Amino acid sequence: MGENVLTIVVPCYNEEEVLPETTKELGQILNDLIDKKKIAPNSKLLFVNDGSKDKTWKIISSYSEKYDYVTGIKFTRNYGHQNALLAGMSLAVKYSDMIITIDADLQDDVNAIYKMVDKFIEGYDVVYGVRNSRDTDSFFKKHTALMYYGLMKKMGVNLIPDSADYRLLSKRATEALLGYKERNLFLRGMVPLVGYKSTKVYYPRKERYAGTSKYPLKKMIHFALDGITSFSIAPIHLIMSMGLIVMLISIVLMIYTIVEKIEGHIVPGWTSLMISIWFLGGVQLISVSVIGEYIGKVFTEVKHRPRFNIECENYSKKMDKRLED
Ligand code: UDP
Ligand code: MG
Repeated sequence: MGENVLTIVVPCYNEEEVLPETTKELGQILNDLIDKKKIAPNSKLLFVNDGSKDKTWKIISSYSEKYDYVTGIKFTRNYGHQNALLAGMSLAVKYSDMIITIDADLQDDVNAIYKMVDKFIEGYDVVYGVRNSRDTDSFFKKHTALMYYGLMKKMGVNLIPDSADYRLLSKRATEALLGYKERNLFLRGMVPLVGYKSTKVYYPRKERYAGTSKYPLKKMIHFALDGITSFSIAPIHLIMSMGLIVMLISIVLMIYTIVEKIEGHIVPGWTSLMISIWFLGGVQLISVSVIGEYIGKVFTEVKHRPRFNIECENYSKKMDKRLED
């Protein structure tokens, strides 16, 4: 068995209410795994403070001083969940043999970490955490999620249903993932692209331990649409088919108008005219905006801006110190 250093990356945005409990529960699991000699003694929790406006960073830094296994990264501002995960992984990959990412709110059962580590030891590079029930989700969320997976599948995007950003990645899988340089991040779509031997572990999903969701409906819809336009050009193909259909209809209409003209009743064309103008106008506007969406993506990609900026971090220092000892 190798060194098996594990880093658990936890993105945090205004999570002061849950952090004490999260640190306690994850810390216990870390210590337990160390005792069982499944992971190395210098395994760590790495909290990524994504520009929180509350006491989140205060809590993280005070715990870091108190406990050797707690470390943190502080972003200069809010960069979003996906970027927080990426930052944690970028830093942790240098020192870790495996990385687990988990939300701060304890909705994902922490005990699945045991199963994930076991799968890693068995030789898997990617272990997806998959929730086996959606009882705690609202009717709306359950059904929209199902529809979304179906839609993505139709468009050729391979997602693991009911798995979010709770997963284990080996060092080399993380390195491969970090090689995907896109700014429009949709990690749960990218991980399957990396390949490597993968497996799933199942767990029941709970309610948030405390606090409120940091993903309001608006953010969720944005994220879902982002997932589509970052991974598939199916919508553009759809426009193409729509264009062809509209063209066919217009040929029929053309013949119809010519016949009407020959027959002599030209005036009563108002209804068909109005319908065509509004319908075609609508189709064109939608089409242009869909294409615009992709051009917008190209725009953000070509700028090559950094995906996040780190104000300070104490993970590397702790890991380096360990290496010197
Ligand atoms: N989060 C983040 N940055 C953001 C929004 C959320 O780092 O801008 C974190 C948040 O602290 C949590 C995780 O992402 O650890 C998932 O958020 P949440 O639990 O609120 O989402 P939900 O489970 O409601 O979809
Ligand atoms: Mg949550």
